[in-house]
Amino acid sequence: MSQIENLKQEILKEYPRLGIEDKFCFECGPHLECFNVCCSDVNIFLTPYDVLQMRKPLNIDSTSFLAEYTIVPFDKQQKLPVPLMKMRDTESKECHFVDPEKGCTIYQHRPWPCRMYPLGSASPGETEVISKPFYFLMKEEHCKGHNRPKEWKIKEWLDDQVPEAYTEFGELFKRIALHPAFSQGKDLAPQQIDMYWMALYDIDRFRRFIFESTFLQRFDVDQDRLDSIKTDDEELLLFGFDWLRFSLFGEKRMKVKPDAEKWVKGKTT
Ligand code: SF4
Ligand code: SF4
Repeated sequence: MSQIENLKQEILKEYPRLGIEDKFCFECGPHLECFNVCCSDVNIFLTPYDVLQMRKPLNIDSTSFLAEYTIVPFDKQQKLPVPLMKMRDTESKECHFVDPEKGCTIYQHRPWPCRMYPLGSASPGETEVISKPFYFLMKEEHCKGHNRPKEWKIKEWLDDQVPEAYTEFGELFKRIALHPAFSQGKDLAPQQIDMYWMALYDIDRFRRFIFESTFLQRFDVDQDRLDSIKTDDEELLLFGFDWLRFSLFGEKRMKVKPDAEKWVKGKTT
């Protein structure tokens, strides 16, 4: 059983499953004694869309963001690298973005796990990309927001905290990270792992790869799409999803130029 599946079984044992119509009571804010406590010593794994959003207020390129604010605990068992948010220092273990007075300084761009908290979500099967997720409520001792009068349906919490784009990009990401090929034993070569990392997380480098390598001599990309991925990170990430589904799993999501067909076939089979 993989690490993810083990974790899911643990979650299912410890927390009851909740559906979209289930209710819970919760309130959070600077008036609570625990304000900011949840922003220290936490493990926050980031999706590609989280990284894209978090960079916006910081105005730095993807390579610098990843180097400064994340670590990548990657071992072979994991198959794929996932960035984990680096805490400010080993002593305080505070998140880089927490301010004692103001709370989260990137609140509008905070990552998905921070938006969901105190909810977690998981899919019933490790590779069931389309399956409906279930939710669970994390009740941690330090968090005093539970059992307050404010009542939420799970659905209301998601509508309030998690913009639609996080879910949409999350679903597209799962089509790659939870691709059935991995459960059937597929392993990526080091060069493919680097491509995965670049197209999903280090997207400024991916942009240079598209425009500054021989990429466009081999692939036919619609001019409108090319124009938008030059400046629009969301469009670039969507292009990265297509590129990975083509290059890692052979899905027909890229148009190969006739002259390059032989070369591309050799690289993707
Ligand atoms: S990103 Fe914001 S909400 Fe999330 S842990 Fe850091 S300070 Fe807290
Ligand atoms: S510990 Fe809970 S209630 Fe307190 S600030 Fe964090 S999420 Fe809100």
